[in-house]
Amino acid sequence: MLESAIVSEPTITSEPTKSELKDFFNYSYAELVELLDLEFGATKFRATQLFEWVYRKGVTDIQEMTNISRELRERLSQVFVFPKARIHDRQISSDGTRKYLFEVEGGDLVESVMIKQPNRMTLCLSSQVGCAMACTFCRTGTMGLKRSLSTSEILRQVNGVVEDAKNFGDSFQNIVFMGMGEPLHNFDGVTRAVRNLTDPLGYGMSPRKVTVSTVGLVPAIRKLAASGVSVSLAVSLNATTDEVRSQIMPINHRFPISELLAAVKDFPVGPRKKVTIEYVMLGGVNDTNDDMKRLAKLMRGLPVKVNLIPYNENAGLGYLSPSRDWVFAWQRYLNSQGLQTFIRWSKGADIGAACGQLATESKRPSRLVVLDEQQVAA
Ligand code: SAH
Repeated sequence: MLESAIVSEPTITSEPTKSELKDFFNYSYAELVELLDLEFGATKFRATQLFEWVYRKGVTDIQEMTNISRELRERLSQVFVFPKARIHDRQISSDGTRKYLFEVEGGDLVESVMIKQPNRMTLCLSSQVGCAMACTFCRTGTMGLKRSLSTSEILRQVNGVVEDAKNFGDSFQNIVFMGMGEPLHNFDGVTRAVRNLTDPLGYGMSPRKVTVSTVGLVPAIRKLAASGVSVSLAVSLNATTDEVRSQIMPINHRFPISELLAAVKDFPVGPRKKVTIEYVMLGGVNDTNDDMKRLAKLMRGLPVKVNLIPYNENAGLGYLSPSRDWVFAWQRYLNSQGLQTFIRWSKGADIGAACGQLATESKRPSRLVVLDEQQVAA
């Protein structure tokens, strides 16, 4: 499955809501300008107005777009549909992290996580239903790939969380594609979503605050570099030898560490900006003293910072978390070697929302999302 999955990207299947209606969230600003011109002979200004209503003000009812003439509103409503995010379930962790289960087209389910950090929140998005990469330590990896999400399905996770965040009086400052799926295995869906997230007329986020995390699909990293899409890159290295990496991440058979790090070296990062190297520490597997030293050596001369992620245990997968002291020892050593190193302690583990714990089954009965004031206050 892996082999063929890498060669060709899966096709994005998204059912049209009503036969000829177009899903607004699949359109970039430039495409919208073109479409409006073609359909109505409308000017660029109309596209700007639509983007502002939808992405800035969160208004998707065309009749509320009062600075657009009634006649044009009528015609627009015959062309566009603005599908609403469908929150199937929401769980709140004791640490304030929230996990959302979204229902996307065809009843498929994906998860998104609002991760609570001391002075910011990070929204973690899914890019696929399941994942084809089959990393042996990752819960999503055990699901296999069902399909890729459309741009609209990705953006609807954002819309849904923005809407629900009003109940909590918070918002996110960062977005990471670290939920279910391999983002670069859904190159179009993800890069188009990134465009609308970072378009000043769209969500207007800084590209520094939107991160795509990859298992290491080297050709896709190079394609991203050449695409002109401005976004931050994170690479899941997770081992310091090809032997161990191939054992835990089958993709390494195709794209070994040397090729991966060459692509990282070539990735265009602005001044003061770095690629993030993620390193999941699996107790006794990839976290030996020798690994620590090899990692420092491998990173030499690369424009990178390192995120150490202590493994979040998944029952049945057979891996263990390292001890806290050992994680701190790694950080101290890597820092002493001049490598900027952070530790990403797990968030939301009590609700299965931590890295590598996301997995969905076929549609479960919906739990009503009711606001629990005690939980909100906590
Ligand atoms: N497919 C992408 C993004 C999803 S995984 C990628 O591989 O980067 C996001 C991060 O979580 C990756 O660095 C992955 O290695 C890590 N991860 C997966 N399972 C984990 C687990 N159980 N505990 C800690 N980190 C995990």
